[in-house]
Amino acid sequence: MAHYLASPYNYTVANRPYSSRINKIVIHVTQGSWSSAINWFQNPYAGVSAHYVIRSRDGYRAKTCSWKDIAWHAGNWSYNQTSIGIEHEGFVSNPNWFTDAMYRSSAYLSASLSKRYRIPIDRYHIIGHNEVPGSTHTDPGYYWDWYRYMRYVKYYRHYSGLM
Ligand SMILES: [Zn+2]
Repeated sequence: MAHYLASPYNYTVANRPYSSRINKIVIHVTQGSWSSAINWFQNPYAGVSAHYVIRSRDGYRAKTCSWKDIAWHAGNWSYNQTSIGIEHEGFVSNPNWFTDAMYRSSAYLSASLSKRYRIPIDRYHIIGHNEVPGSTHTDPGYYWDWYRYMRYVKYYRHYSGLM
């Protein structure tokens, strides 16, 4: 994993989880390439960021914002304050981007976060951007395989030494 931190103009410095409880993970799709998403977060005029961007072909993770800071990804301030945002390289209209490597890498990350912050592994706490109240976004979209994703998160949480 590499660090490609977002511009400090695109997130809110905080001291989570002490000042605000992290209790959700929000799943996104970039609608562009992995590198273009990272570049956009580094643009001080973007006004958006996430905590991670995961690459399609191999599941490689870029950390773009510290967990303790509030990334601007959900389009809802209370959700931003209480969540971790994970971006996935691809387009909602094309399932070919959603590789098994990317699902596994993201699920391993979500399993780690669920352990660290005691986030329940269910669809009330691991949600799509489209499920955030007031969201105008459709990601991760129709082709995102929630069944596979949640199965992997549970697997990594319980069977990969993350207990
Ligand atoms: Zn999104």
